[in-house]
Amino acid sequence: MARSAPVMISSIDPIELQAILDRIAGTMAAATERGRVADYIPELADVANDRFGIAVVPVNGEALVAGNADIAFSVQSISKVFTLTLALEKFGGAIWERVGREPSGDPFNSIVQLELEHGVPRNPFINAGAIVIADLLVDGQTPHETVQEILTYCRQLANDEGINIDQDVARSEERTGFRNVALASFMRAEGNIRAPVGHPLDVYFHHCAIAMSCRQLAAAGRYLAAAGDVHGDDARRVSMSCVRRINAVMMTCGHYDASGEFAFRVGLPGKSGVGGGILGIVPGVASIAAWSPGLNAKGSSVLASRAFEELAKATGWSVFGAPGQG
Ligand code: GLN
Repeated sequence: MARSAPVMISSIDPIELQAILDRIAGTMAAATERGRVADYIPELADVANDRFGIAVVPVNGEALVAGNADIAFSVQSISKVFTLTLALEKFGGAIWERVGREPSGDPFNSIVQLELEHGVPRNPFINAGAIVIADLLVDGQTPHETVQEILTYCRQLANDEGINIDQDVARSEERTGFRNVALASFMRAEGNIRAPVGHPLDVYFHHCAIAMSCRQLAAAGRYLAAAGDVHGDDARRVSMSCVRRINAVMMTCGHYDASGEFAFRVGLPGKSGVGGGILGIVPGVASIAAWSPGLNAKGSSVLASRAFEELAKATGWSVFGAPGQG
């Protein structure tokens, strides 16, 4: 019996896509329901809530952008995608002995589950899980060296030397991130943090404070859409097994207790951050970043989530559907 060809998610004409992005940016500029800027990290509270940007970096082609796509913002938890990639590439499957890969169904900074599960975080995207990844990365080197390694890695993934850490944001979180201190201390008590807690926390606060624009973030995430290709540089290629696993964890855990909703409404692997950014991946087609600082109650950007929903509708981009179906 003849087998039918696999369904491919199609790409889209750049002129048509630019028109879609311009329309979405126009809608978001006029939106009145914009959510609330995160204020539990004092330095983030000052960001103006009238901003919206979006960028699409196709696997084969030039970036397309609309709105405030070149303003750098705090990527926060989106950086966990890049630290997870670095850890998986360095240590392979051994990381899963110290962190799970199941959705938590809890807020990103929840403490209760961690006690019930003996200090092994549900997944690498909740704060506790990312702190374990930071602990793996800091082993054998100083926090400063580890932060530099992560920053260099992000620059390579984005092919952009202009990416930096916002030191004020890092200090702000160092001063006030007591829940993260509690998570790290508890995991240290359970033996799942090996370094003095200040080391992984230092690394974690600094990688969350990496600033990127939508254009830079979409470029950094391109390897997840491009089967591990890092801007044609063979020495830096990310393995396909790593790409598949990260996309899977983004789909199931990328938005904490709102991951099901994003999968339902958008249908793409994605990762949110409390700086208001969302990175989304259309495997084989494009990497997408949208940003607007106002958040909903679950800590996801109201307008970036809306933009992803509208983009998915207009392009038919979804890992669950056939091309062209809105
Ligand atoms: N740095 C933030 C925190 O630890 C990251 C949270 C997020 O973006 N969801 O609270």
